[in-house]
Amino acid sequence: MRKMKASRNQAGVESNYSYAVVKAVNAAALAIGAEISSARVLQTIVEQARKLTNARYAALGIGSDPKRPFDPWVFSGMDEAVARLLPHFPRPQGLLGAVVLEGHKIRLRDITKDSRYRGFPLHHPQMTSFLGVPIRHKGETIGNLYLTEKTGADEFTEQDEEVVEMLAAHAAIAYRQAQLYEQLHTAHTRFETLFENSPAGIVFVEAATDRVYENEAARALFGRRLQPEAGRQQYVGQFFSADGLPLSLAEFPTSKALWGEVVVGAELVVRRPDGEEKSVLANAAPVRNAQGVVTAAVVIIQDATPLKLERLREEFVSIVAHDLRTPINVITGFGELLSRDLEKKGMSAGERRAVAAIQNSARRLNHMVQDLLDASRLEARRLTLEKRPVDIPVLVQEVVERLSPMLSPHPLLISVQGTPPMVEADPGRIEQVLTNLLTNAAKYSPPETDIQVAVVAEPQEVMVSVTDHGLGIAPDDIPKLFSRFFRTKEARASAHGGLGIGLYISKSLVEVHGGRMWIESEVGKGSTFYFALPAAPSVAANQKRVG
Ligand code: ADP
Repeated sequence: MRKMKASRNQAGVESNYSYAVVKAVNAAALAIGAEISSARVLQTIVEQARKLTNARYAALGIGSDPKRPFDPWVFSGMDEAVARLLPHFPRPQGLLGAVVLEGHKIRLRDITKDSRYRGFPLHHPQMTSFLGVPIRHKGETIGNLYLTEKTGADEFTEQDEEVVEMLAAHAAIAYRQAQLYEQLHTAHTRFETLFENSPAGIVFVEAATDRVYENEAARALFGRRLQPEAGRQQYVGQFFSADGLPLSLAEFPTSKALWGEVVVGAELVVRRPDGEEKSVLANAAPVRNAQGVVTAAVVIIQDATPLKLERLREEFVSIVAHDLRTPINVITGFGELLSRDLEKKGMSAGERRAVAAIQNSARRLNHMVQDLLDASRLEARRLTLEKRPVDIPVLVQEVVERLSPMLSPHPLLISVQGTPPMVEADPGRIEQVLTNLLTNAAKYSPPETDIQVAVVAEPQEVMVSVTDHGLGIAPDDIPKLFSRFFRTKEARASAHGGLGIGLYISKSLVEVHGGRMWIESEVGKGSTFYFALPAAPSVAANQKRVG
């Protein structure tokens, strides 16, 4: 190309002409470079190439894979209505394909006379003169540019070839830049979305400028907006160590990260301008560039209050478990001893009542403690199940027999429908559910009324129901029944005490077994509590196969 220009320069007139061409190509390159979207860049390339070469049609395909070289495919000069009748992008065959496969420019006076010509698709306009040029970037072909039907001449000239090659070089750069810009834009938008919507507070500090940027969650934790240009200094006095000592600038997790240190799980206290103090957990890390130089620091700050609450709950659980249980066991033990001693000596009726009251109260207290522990463990998902195959009708029978002396004024009726499948469950926990439903049924219904327990075989599950003919539950109360510490007005007014967590525990226990619990009730008539447990997986699979 340079050789050609030199010879033309010697020819004088020609050199002016060549200068005009270079100017035109530069103008075209500028027009292309002005576009930022890659789609617009490609469209401008075809339009400019067509203009510069006086071609009736121009098109270009992008793609470095020879099997997919025209995706996207962009064109100019083609009638829209005709273009719509053609495939979305052509196949790499014939002369279009030849430029791709051979990897060099092809210039022809008449395509149809070339041996590589394969004909045009249906509806495609007729084309004769042809110029195809690969678009290369850093030694790699990234696409191909085509011009056809030179207007006012029979074929494209050597100069057209030169012009298109020059343009293709500019085009490649502009296209790659546009793509980079788009990638950068996408990455930036993704980062912004993550940054702003993250539930954790994030603060970003630029090493060179000490500018700070915080997200919405950080603003909420700090109780104020930071000024980027005021740097890290602006929150000195707002951060304290877990034992209440103010942090110096150098002790900030961001400062440490700027020095290249990674800070994990630092427990800090943030004092907000409104005086409120918040416990936070901070993790910080340096951000390095390709050369490994720290360019920024990022710190992620989480509200540690829920963690603190969790810790308090654990403490509470251990207090309940150990400190409360020990005295209860002492009361139960000595109650027994007292009862036996008095029995030997001969108890009065009053003494017998007193000892029985001590023992019953200790038992109830023990149940309550156990319930509180269970509720707490269920909430913290710390309850462990000792699962094994359980035959529910057998378990129901055993539990009913065990409880019947306690529920004695109530006739207990058991029915089993169908052949319930085995379930994979912790029998102790299912017994706990049944015991709670049965004692509730007895507590909240007049003595002597029946309590019916039904076990029903359902497809893929076993359903158990406990029906009483007692108080019933008002429709408004039903949705609240399974929440912790809820007791109906009627229950609170009754002589029966309770914490209101039995049903919460029962439902949670059924759910940790993959089952569900629900209720039907009518005020004044009685209630039915249902629970269903899924059949053991092997049983369920067999049933499916049979079904
Ligand atoms: P508790 O019985 O210790 O109060 P539960 O969680 O077992 O706690 O029950 C919660 C509330 O649901 C009870 O206080 C009572 O108001 C109501 N309830 C439970 N079972 C029945 C029932 N069989 N009939 C009427 N009300 C019931």
